[in-house]
Amino acid sequence: MSNLPAIHFLPSETLEREAHRRVDAEWLRQQLSGSPQFIFVWRGGNLFGVGENKRAFALEVPEPEKLLNPIFLGVSGQGNALFAADLSTLPSEEEALAFLHLSPDLARFTPLRQFDGLLSLAERSLLFYSRSMTHWHQEQKFCNRCGHATLPEDAGHIMGCTNPECATKHFPRTDPATIMLVHADDHCLLGRQAAWPKGMYSTLAGFVEPGERLEEAVYREVKEESGIEVKNIRYFGSQPWPFPQSLMLGFFAEAETKEITRGIELEDVRWFHLSEAKELVERLASRFPHLDTIARRLIRHWVENR
Ligand SMILES: [Zn+2]
Repeated sequence: MSNLPAIHFLPSETLEREAHRRVDAEWLRQQLSGSPQFIFVWRGGNLFGVGENKRAFALEVPEPEKLLNPIFLGVSGQGNALFAADLSTLPSEEEALAFLHLSPDLARFTPLRQFDGLLSLAERSLLFYSRSMTHWHQEQKFCNRCGHATLPEDAGHIMGCTNPECATKHFPRTDPATIMLVHADDHCLLGRQAAWPKGMYSTLAGFVEPGERLEEAVYREVKEESGIEVKNIRYFGSQPWPFPQSLMLGFFAEAETKEITRGIELEDVRWFHLSEAKELVERLASRFPHLDTIARRLIRHWVENR
């Protein structure tokens, strides 16, 4: 690319996905030959500014046609078409940045979970969307029905099998996972994984298995990880990350039993008194101010409404 890219902050409002445009080849061509904005991903990292510009941004590049298989994400409130583009074929982060005419003291590719600047809900959603779609393109390069190569269709929202005898169309996947705050009077149940920093505890969580209702997954996960049986399972809210294609579904559940028998997944599971849980929420907030995770929201909601 001969010129420098133009830097744009991400739209502050939720993007209109405009799914009907994905099949409108002429409209997409027009957008791509106009001045579309790209959200770049390199090997799982999103592009963020560093230093004083510690923010996520989209770029308007001089020669968008050089980008391989851009994925149409939607249209911002200002009417700008946004695309995701994956630079993962470039062998190093330096080369990916150089391709964009950016230097490492201006921007870096960082996994969303490790970025420690502030992000709005709309920004996080858009970054996750880009990351998740590019991840899926990497994972779905081949047809899992016949083994032939696939190619993107519908502006990147379908990966179509190139074997005419098969012609299966593959769609992006979202894997549901449950995350739950189990409580009993003025105590809540939290666990920790061995890899976590010392003193860090969080809500229990686990993927939903085929054939399970969400409530059954909550009941099973709590039982497996702590031996505790729960009732009155209530939905709280959701969060579409941190794993590339996961959707975390948050619940509250009331403990029917109190005695803990730890399963194999966690290093420790124990009851936290309300005052300890309150302190944990504050500790998590000061440590990860940018990550208003559903785990933290669940604990905070319980603490504040107890
Ligand atoms: Zn196939």
